[in-house]
Amino acid sequence: SQPSRYAVFGHPIGHTQSPRIHQLFAAQFDIALTYEAIDAAPEAFAEAVQRFFVAGNGHGANVTLPHKGAAFALADERSEAAMRAGSANVLTRLADGRLAAHNTDGAGLVRDLTERHGADLRDRDMLLLGAGGAARGVAWSLLDAGVASLTIVNRTAATADALADAIGEPARVRTRYWQDLADIGSFDLIINATSAGVLHQSLGLPFSLVGTRAVCYDLAYGAAAVPFLAWAQAADAHRSFDGLGMLVETAADAFELWHGQRPDTEPVYQVLRQPTV
Ligand code: NDP
Repeated sequence: SQPSRYAVFGHPIGHTQSPRIHQLFAAQFDIALTYEAIDAAPEAFAEAVQRFFVAGNGHGANVTLPHKGAAFALADERSEAAMRAGSANVLTRLADGRLAAHNTDGAGLVRDLTERHGADLRDRDMLLLGAGGAARGVAWSLLDAGVASLTIVNRTAATADALADAIGEPARVRTRYWQDLADIGSFDLIINATSAGVLHQSLGLPFSLVGTRAVCYDLAYGAAAVPFLAWAQAADAHRSFDGLGMLVETAADAFELWHGQRPDTEPVYQVLRQPTV
């Protein structure tokens, strides 16, 4: 029989690690699959998805910037995690041909932080920088993991307020203005969910945010994570991590949704960590 067909949709998509990750997972189970990277401009996304799933007999797709909101909107069914985030990073074709949307960002981040890096999230005061698609995806999962408080700070304050309102947990969730970052004290856990690193822009963060034994985490990875991690180190953060582990964990959730088997993420993470020549 033909190997089943998978893809990742993004724009741009040249740098994606997803095909490699899914082929490495598939090799663990001797599953034959094809996994391609599809570059679709926003206006062409819905049609490209149709073509992949209907005419192309695709089974599942990952979705990355800037299509996560559109993927959520065009699906026929949505998981609770996708509903909370208002965006989807996984699309799956159901047996009846309809499309199901899911969001694995939050679960992937929490697993990477707690299981790979051994971070304890319970009773911690957390700062979430950014309120875009990725921040929305992870905020609920961090609250579920038991953080004591979640302070959301976004350059555009209204977006942070909208996220806090959507979460609806005023006892634990508050927002602050970006221009007040120097005056809001220190945190145990600082998550950079902005796209500043990808855009080569500086966040201009004060060192005072970093509490003793603070963990700093950038959702971005590779060169895009370098400025934030350098800041964390300069601020004497206890530990700091980029988002490569989250990427592998979110991919593992997609793989399990599609194939019903849970891959071992650690060897794949180690392969991706090695510098490419
Ligand atoms: P969005 O475009 O949805 O959101 C971008 C966010 O960054 C907004 O909150 C925006 O603020 C903020 N921002 C952008 N530039 C600046 C700046 N110069 N200063 C301050 N804030 C800024 O992007 P996503 O949420 O989808 O992605 C964010 C990051 O997370 C990306 O780096 C992405 O690669 C990474 N990511 C990693 C994943 C992983 O598996 N490791 C998964 C998903 C995302 P404003 O509202 O004011 O515009």
